[in-house]
Amino acid sequence: MIFENNRKFAQSLDAQDELRKYRDEFYFPKVNGKEVLYFTGNSLGLQPKRAKTYVDEVMSDWANMAVEGHFYADKPWWDYQERFAVPLSEIVGAKPTEVGVMNTLTVNLHLLMVSFYNPTPKKYKIICEEKAFPSDQYMFQSQVKFHGYDPKDAIVEIKRREGEANIRLEDVLAKIEEVGSDLALVLIGGVNYYTGQVFDMQTITAAGQKHGAYVGWDLAHAAGNIKLNLHDWNVDFAAWCSYKYMNSGPGNASGFFVHEKHHNDKELKRFAGWYGHNKERRFKMEPDFDPVHGADGWQVSNLPILSLAPYLASVEMFAEVGMDKLIAKRNLITSYLEFILHEIDKELEGADFEIITPSNPRERGCQLSVYLHGQGRELFDRLMKNGVITDWREPNVIRLAPAPFYCSFEDMYEFGQILKRLILEK
Ligand SMILES: *Cc1c(COP(=O)(O)O)cnc(C)c1O
Repeated sequence: MIFENNRKFAQSLDAQDELRKYRDEFYFPKVNGKEVLYFTGNSLGLQPKRAKTYVDEVMSDWANMAVEGHFYADKPWWDYQERFAVPLSEIVGAKPTEVGVMNTLTVNLHLLMVSFYNPTPKKYKIICEEKAFPSDQYMFQSQVKFHGYDPKDAIVEIKRREGEANIRLEDVLAKIEEVGSDLALVLIGGVNYYTGQVFDMQTITAAGQKHGAYVGWDLAHAAGNIKLNLHDWNVDFAAWCSYKYMNSGPGNASGFFVHEKHHNDKELKRFAGWYGHNKERRFKMEPDFDPVHGADGWQVSNLPILSLAPYLASVEMFAEVGMDKLIAKRNLITSYLEFILHEIDKELEGADFEIITPSNPRERGCQLSVYLHGQGRELFDRLMKNGVITDWREPNVIRLAPAPFYCSFEDMYEFGQILKRLILEK
């Protein structure tokens, strides 16, 4: 498609957008009485209007039924989490028995590492990406120390080449070969939070497993953003938060995946709790743990229903639309934003924007990370005052995620105009 940098063209794309009615299903913050241009759905998704209905339902069941709500609420609380299995399995490409929802992301990765990281003196190394999300770095260090190893020796990072923003697949594979039989675990962010780079999860999973390692993925920036096929890719385990692309609300619950090939493995260690126990016998208060067959066998506590409620509202919206339509719009709107950035860059001689996210649509999702050379944090602050919410990372990178559920093509055009005006005004 030949794009044009004008309002009429942007509006024509909106007119053809099958998902445009969903924009009205979300609350947009306002600045100066006007709805903002929201580019941070990769950090905290907007609130779906229907989320409140789901929360209110739990609040009134609690008021009206109290403890009886566990079994007699419209959506009983004791197995409320099971409502997520089908829609989540479609979002991440899994069987319903392979996915669940519980706790929060880093907690779930720790719990999954109890099962999938059991180092021995001959096999103890973890491969991750250089500059992984800080929570993941702290998690690796603490896990390695917990098992009595030295993080400097046990954690192997895949580096970027000098002068390159993204990690090459060949370098990931070479590192896996190099570590070889010492490799216990590969655990990488499926979509890099800083650059938006999408990793080839299928190829990397197979390469790690060839050396007898487990391979897991942190899907914080991938779930609800890119096409995933966790079952077919033979991924061992994965987890994701729900408050980024999945619009479930601040700090909300995490989804997780355990491949069905591990469901019968009685040797796998796990930290157990009563919600992982045999569903029919859960309330018999028996002494011996008999795990639920499937991912829910990794459950620990009874679930925080008030926080699952808005997540359920969101997951049902994903089920209505389906990942394919979201991804089709995502590709178009991200490409349009890329085009707008190039146009503004040309119009402002020497503005010098450098998009570090891969330009190949198969290697990126809904995020463009842009170096604004010559600009400082002050530009970010002025964008904010002018109703554009972006994410600023030192030294001068803005991350822009035009979430396809609620962003419009006209937003992209409007953003270009505001950016140009603010840079010229300086
Ligand atoms: C957002 C994010 C997290 C956040 O973890 P929480 O435990 O939910 O606070 C972890 N890892 C990555 C890669 C992220 O992008």
